[in-house]
Amino acid sequence: MKIWVVLQQKEGELHRMSREAIAAAQQLAAATGAGAVDALILGSGIGSLAEEVAGAYALGAVRFADHVNLANYTPGGYVGALQPAIATAAPDLVLFPHTYQSVDYMARLAQALGAGLLPEITAFEDAEGGMLFTRPVLGGKLDAKVRIRGEGTVLISIQSGAFAADSAQAGSGELVALGGDLEAAKPDREILGVEEVGGEHVDLTKAEVIVAAGRGVGSGEKMKVIEELAEVLGAEIAASRPVIDNGWLERDRQIGSSGQTVAPKLYIAAGISGAIQHTVGMKGASVVVSVNKDPGAPIFNLSNYGIVGDLHEVLPALTEAIRQAKE
Ligand SMILES: Cc1cc2nc3c(=O)[nH]c(=O)nc-3n(C[C@H](O)[C@H](O)[C@H](O)COP(=O)(O)OP(=O)(O)OC[C@H]3O[C@@H](n4cnc5c(N)ncnc54)[C@H](O)[C@@H]3O)c2cc1C
Repeated sequence: MKIWVVLQQKEGELHRMSREAIAAAQQLAAATGAGAVDALILGSGIGSLAEEVAGAYALGAVRFADHVNLANYTPGGYVGALQPAIATAAPDLVLFPHTYQSVDYMARLAQALGAGLLPEITAFEDAEGGMLFTRPVLGGKLDAKVRIRGEGTVLISIQSGAFAADSAQAGSGELVALGGDLEAAKPDREILGVEEVGGEHVDLTKAEVIVAAGRGVGSGEKMKVIEELAEVLGAEIAASRPVIDNGWLERDRQIGSSGQTVAPKLYIAAGISGAIQHTVGMKGASVVVSVNKDPGAPIFNLSNYGIVGDLHEVLPALTEAIRQAKE
């Protein structure tokens, strides 16, 4: 059994989830009796990052591809560099952090390799008949247990927050060039520039009370119920991704795997289903109160208090009750 892990980096810094992917790969190697894990890093001018990784983690090799074609991420460049290396060495499993970037190219890479694809893994267990992988489906309402059958390489993405980055084993690995013809790994998108989205950065990590809005709020005009509850509580407002994508709130108030990670004393989740990409950002809250009209919403699994009902009725009643209690 041979296990590889592809690390994501930007401007020479590892993406937070790359460390989680290393931890997952090491644990999977231990569980399957595989040898040491090889890590892959792609980019331009990433020599010192590759050295840093090779000096920090218990790995077999750190295979790095350092080429101007990989200066910016493009699916063409990444698939062009990874496909020949994976096809030649034929690792059994190649792990990736489940990020916007890997989601963008993993399917194409799997197709180019004729490899299997197992996205969004949150756990694995050594069961009778072989390794069983867990992946949440239907917005987290069910966990599917998946077993790999047949021969050949399988690409696996690791969901955010499923494996603790600090459980990655320290040690060292050997630096090796990825090899292959990187000249042929042609970028297939022209990056004209990179703009940071969001205006002033709002730091929600120190907020003690947060009222978070989900898609269930319904529209930007209806956000008033959230604002009024936040005001009476002296709370910060935050949201799940659809609220941000719909433009109902500024982007720097997103909670979750691609937003902020918070740990307030009180987190009120209104109209939020509880998808793992959201809950990884708020599961450190001391007390979670959820309002959702679906009694089966996964958010209730990690709530201390759950209110089943229409948030447009529940929140104004809560706001009023708090107002009166304060008087
Ligand atoms: C790579 C990647 C990264 C992502 N990063 C993030 C991230 O950082 N943060 C994030 O939040 N998401 C993220 N997502 C999206 C995530 O998968 C979910 O789609 C998202 O969290 C769902 O948001 P939601 O709960 O608001 O919406 P939905 O899942 O649509 O849930 C809406 C909920 O509102 C309830 N509801 C509807 N109307 C009412 C009402 N009137 N009263 C009460 N309840 C009501 C419904 O029952 C439902 O449970 C990411 C996805 C991917 C693929």
